[in-house]
Amino acid sequence: MIVGVPKEIKNNESRVGMTPAGVYELVKNNHKVYVQSTAGEGSGFFDKDYEQVGAEILESIEEVYAKSEMIVKVKEPIAKEYGLIKEGQIVFTYFHFASSEPLTKAMIESKSICIAYETVEDEDGTLPLLTPMSEVAGRMAVQQGAKYLEKPAKGRGVLLGGVPGVAPGKVLVLGAGVVGIQAAKMAAGLGAHVTIMDVNMKRLRYVNDVMPNHVVTDFSTEFSIRKHIKNHDLIIGGVLLKGKKAPNLITRDMLKEMRPGTVIVDVAVDQGGCVETTKATTHEDPVFIIDDVVHYCVANMPGAVPYTSTIALTNVTLPYVLKLANNGWQAACRSDRSLEKGLNVVEGKVVYKEIIEAFDWNE
Ligand code: NAD
Repeated sequence: MIVGVPKEIKNNESRVGMTPAGVYELVKNNHKVYVQSTAGEGSGFFDKDYEQVGAEILESIEEVYAKSEMIVKVKEPIAKEYGLIKEGQIVFTYFHFASSEPLTKAMIESKSICIAYETVEDEDGTLPLLTPMSEVAGRMAVQQGAKYLEKPAKGRGVLLGGVPGVAPGKVLVLGAGVVGIQAAKMAAGLGAHVTIMDVNMKRLRYVNDVMPNHVVTDFSTEFSIRKHIKNHDLIIGGVLLKGKKAPNLITRDMLKEMRPGTVIVDVAVDQGGCVETTKATTHEDPVFIIDDVVHYCVANMPGAVPYTSTIALTNVTLPYVLKLANNGWQAACRSDRSLEKGLNVVEGKVVYKEIIEAFDWNE
C-alpha cells in the first residue's frame, strides 16, 4: 500500500502521525511511504531520519494526499485539507466527528474511509489509542501544577516535595483512572502527600495495592471533596463519565473554601471539566485566576511535549497501521473487532451511531 504522512497544519500542533521507527516497519513490509517535508521536525524527527529508513520526502501536502492510498496523521483534517481527501482513501487519525458537523459532512462528501483513533475500542471498553495521551496529560499535570504553585506564578509558594523540617505539599487527585493514577504516581515521586478519590472501589483498591503509603485513597463524595479542598495545595481533575460531560465536583462556591494560591489543573477540561469555573485555555495563555485560585485548563496538554506524545501515540497506532496496510481496510476490520469500532465514515456513509445521534440526523 502507499502510505502518506502529511505535516499537521492545525494551529500549534507539532506532533506527527508516524515516527521513523514506524516508517521502517512499513517499508520492511514492502509498503511505500511518502512523508511531507518537515512533517516530523516539531517532534524532533528530520527529513533525513525518514529518508534513512526508506521514506520518500514530498514537498507539498497536496502531493502527499494525491499520491497516497492511506493517510496517517494526528489531528482531524481542517477545512484546508477537506478537498485533498480522495474517494476510497483511508484516513487514520483523531477525528472527534461528534463535535464538528462541517467535518463530518466534508468526509461524507469525500467518500473516503475515516477510521478514528478515539473510537478504536478494546473488548473491555478501554480506548487504546486515547490511553497514551491520558498518560502524558496525567504526568504533565503534576509538572504544571508544581510550576504554578510557585509564588511568581501566583501560587501558594509551596514546594511539593517539602524539605527536611518542612512538610511536603498536598495533592488531591479526582479520578483514579489513567490520568489520575499517572498524576498520583508523579506527585508521590516528588515526595508530595497525595489523596486520590474515585467512585469506583475497584480503582481505589488497585491504587491502594500499588502505591506507596503517602498516597491515600478516599471514596469520592461531595462531603469528602469539600473537606479535602481546604488543605490541599494542588488539585488535579481527571474524572470521566464516558460519552458525557464531566460532573462538576468542585462548584464555584467551593473556591472560597480553598487557601489563596491553591492550584487546580483540570485535565478533564476537554469534556467540560470537573470544576464549575473551568474554561478551556491554551499553551500560550494557560492559566486564569478566580477567587485567588489558579486554574490551569489546557485542552491539549500533550501538544506541549510533542516528542514524547508522538512516540507514545505512534507506539499504539503502528500495529493498526500495519494491519491496514498489509490487509486493506475491509479485511483488517473484519479480523479485528477493536479496529472495526474505529470505522466512523465509510464511502459516503456515517457508520458510527453516536455521530448520527450527535447531529440529530434522521437517516
Ligand atoms: P478514565 O476513564 O481512565 O478515568 C476516569 C475516572 O474517573 C474513572 O476511574 C471513574 O471511575 C472516575 N470518576 C467518575 N466519576 C467520578 C466522581 N464523581 N468522582 C471521582 N472519580 C470519578 O479516563 P482518563 O483517561 O483518565 O481521562 C480523564 C479525562 O482527562 C478525560 O476527560 C479525558 O478526555 C481527559 N484528557 C484530557 C487531556 C488534556 O490535554 N486536557 C489529555 C488526555 C485526557
